[in-house]
Amino acid sequence: MLRIAGLNVSIGPIPIIRNASLDLDEGEMCGLIGRNGAGKTTLLRAVMGAIPASGTLTLNDVDLLALPAHQRVQHGIGYMPEDRRLVPQFTVEENIRLPTWTTKADGVEQRLDWIFTIMPEVANFRARRAMELSGGQQKMVALARALMAGRKILLLDEPFEGLAPALARRLGEVMANLKTEGVSILIAESNEVHVADLLSRAFRIERGSVAAA
Ligand code: ATP
Repeated sequence: MLRIAGLNVSIGPIPIIRNASLDLDEGEMCGLIGRNGAGKTTLLRAVMGAIPASGTLTLNDVDLLALPAHQRVQHGIGYMPEDRRLVPQFTVEENIRLPTWTTKADGVEQRLDWIFTIMPEVANFRARRAMELSGGQQKMVALARALMAGRKILLLDEPFEGLAPALARRLGEVMANLKTEGVSILIAESNEVHVADLLSRAFRIERGSVAAA
């Protein structure tokens, strides 16, 4: 479904991702495992179109490299950045709706209802401002926001990073439930301990090179 082949990404003159290849099948949950600085965030940002890349990057038959970032989102790709990037003054619900403001997506209300059904704790604080939440709660909101656009593909950057054990367990539960929804998920983590049980396959990334693990 998502195919990355021979992908190269440079930041300034420095090659960061070198000839990376990986593929993600429909409904599959894969890991992208590598230590800090290995290039996980750079690879995910390149898929989203936040930084230029060369090589092959397709979603089904769509050439994503030919599209600007906002059009990639319209093809059903959701991204959860490591640092959450919520708008602090906006309510939780406004933050979750944010990706739909520019994409004119259909079925927004049904999608939001579905997200609140699978993450009822987020529904409970939907009217609170993002800045009033703990870091862990904000991670849940960032996942909810990624789900708003991510009808086909979810790219999650270290979703378990910094979560207290109870929240990490809960996040794992939510992600396990997503497996039945047909969404393909790529999870970047520096430590596979949180995700090993969830994954069907893992790719290892080291100094910008990706290999099957
Ligand atoms: P982390 O978990 O620490 O974020 P990561 O695997 O996600 O690690 P990246 O953030 O993708 O790694 O960084 C990969 C490499 O690219 C690192 O050596 C980093 O220093 C470099 N890098 C990333 N962004 C920039 C930038 N804006 N300018 C210069 N170098 C960068």
